[in-house]
Amino acid sequence: MPVTPWKFGLIASAASLLLCSAAYADTVVLRGARVLTMDNAKPEAEAIALVDGKIAAVGTAADVEPYLKGATVYDLPSTSLVMPAFQDSHNHLVWSSAQAEDISLADVSDEAGLRAAIEPVLATLPEGAWLRGGGWSVAVYKDPSAAALDKITGDRPAFFDDVDGHSGWANSAALKAAGITAETKDPEGGRIDRDASGNPTGMLREKAMALVHDIMPEYPDSQVDTGLEKAQAEAVSYGISAIIDPGLEDWMIKGYERADAAGKLKLRVKAAIPIDAAAGVDRVQHVLDLQKQYKSPHFQIDSVKLFVDGVIETGTAALLEAYVGSNSAGDLLFTPEQINAIATAADKGGLRLHFHAIGDRAVRVALDASEAAQKANGTTDRRPQITHLELVDPADVPRFAPLGVIANIQALWAYPETYIVDLTEPVLGPERSEWLYPFGALKKAGATIAGASDWSVSSMNPLEAIQIGVTRQDPEDPNGRVLTPQHRLELDDMLRAYTVNAAFAAEDEANSGTLTAGKRADVIVLDKDLTKIAPTEIDSAKVMLTLIDGEAVYQEEGLAAPTKQ
Ligand SMILES: [Zn+2]
Repeated sequence: MPVTPWKFGLIASAASLLLCSAAYADTVVLRGARVLTMDNAKPEAEAIALVDGKIAAVGTAADVEPYLKGATVYDLPSTSLVMPAFQDSHNHLVWSSAQAEDISLADVSDEAGLRAAIEPVLATLPEGAWLRGGGWSVAVYKDPSAAALDKITGDRPAFFDDVDGHSGWANSAALKAAGITAETKDPEGGRIDRDASGNPTGMLREKAMALVHDIMPEYPDSQVDTGLEKAQAEAVSYGISAIIDPGLEDWMIKGYERADAAGKLKLRVKAAIPIDAAAGVDRVQHVLDLQKQYKSPHFQIDSVKLFVDGVIETGTAALLEAYVGSNSAGDLLFTPEQINAIATAADKGGLRLHFHAIGDRAVRVALDASEAAQKANGTTDRRPQITHLELVDPADVPRFAPLGVIANIQALWAYPETYIVDLTEPVLGPERSEWLYPFGALKKAGATIAGASDWSVSSMNPLEAIQIGVTRQDPEDPNGRVLTPQHRLELDDMLRAYTVNAAFAAEDEANSGTLTAGKRADVIVLDKDLTKIAPTEIDSAKVMLTLIDGEAVYQEEGLAAPTKQ
């Protein structure tokens, strides 16, 4: 996974942009730009009319004439592009936004950087509060240890998640508070890193992170609410109208619930609740109860999240064959029997399955669990999805389409950057590395591909991911190496991934994902027509206007104000 996380600068600047709370503009007309509908029945149009939050007409300038009287009219530059708003099929919005108010160790590479990040917060921290945050990466800070933190923190407890959430960095006070000593056994599915004499080093992997997380004080509501407001402002500035949030704990549910009750939830959020092996099948009923409780138009709980494995760079992703230079092939976080039982029970209750699978063995096990659930329950069209899909065995590629399993991809990760070149390809070897992020093969095999950011693991901007999905090249090095060129997708595939297919993944295609009369007026305007620029320039395009339910929730300063007819 790439090192492009925790864009605090962006969050801060997006927050200062418009997130107005006006009710629907009754009628809105957009004209002058090319309209890309993503609807195969009528792919292009000249103008669009929105009435009471719904799309009323898509067609020629003449077709929208009847709607002009009294309408708010945007006369757009002819070089701009109107399209359906983006949807992000895997975005940890509330969790990441609360964390975004924490200390960022993004790009911290040495002691001076650590000091600069931590000391200002330490000086203002109330009694009893923890130093907390995240964003560090072993690719940037080479040798994280409790001792390195202790020098700066003294005996104030400190704990920092890494950028992809699979490792945690504790100081000695945090280890002490969690009771982690040389005698502490590794928890199931986790590892406490130890030095030669068996003492914990401060590095906690996977489930071992919970030993500290579980005893940390909760985020105050005010931090969650402020963070969520800023994160939504950032999302709409990127043209995002809806997300799947793939893993809520109670405090995150409450965060969305408060925002929804206050009318501040602009995005549509469909969410998954994690179930791990320890909680097991018994936990399914709890999620079914939440599903009944949370089904407002803007916030619904409708899925379970199943973490099948870890990540390649720490050797915790589950592979079919051992890592190069190791006897280990990583570990599944469930036995296949456990995960099949949970998947079957959840599917039976009407919940969608959302699997985290990175290694080729984990992907296979997720496909098997989807198949087991469908066989047992006779369900069709439940739209299970597997997210990340870093390494897929070629034998499993053709299984997605017939099982109806959606490939939920983070295209932004699929280029030759540090994680791939230094930490992934060497431990997979050349043959397997041909099947890294095999999106092209999945597409050819008929899989539905939904686009997602995994924010705040990486940037939330869909245009950055769309570019990499098409080029599979470092955006800073447009003539550089292409990661497995056979797996490139077309621009149209990537646009579908973030619109119509993402709507399908959220079971919302009847209401959104294309510009079709009768659907919700979730519409964006880009300053450039993506079909007319070089693929390497896609990420330089900007969202000028985001309408959700016909309401302008974001407008770039450069866009001329609409006129009232
Ligand atoms: Zn995720």
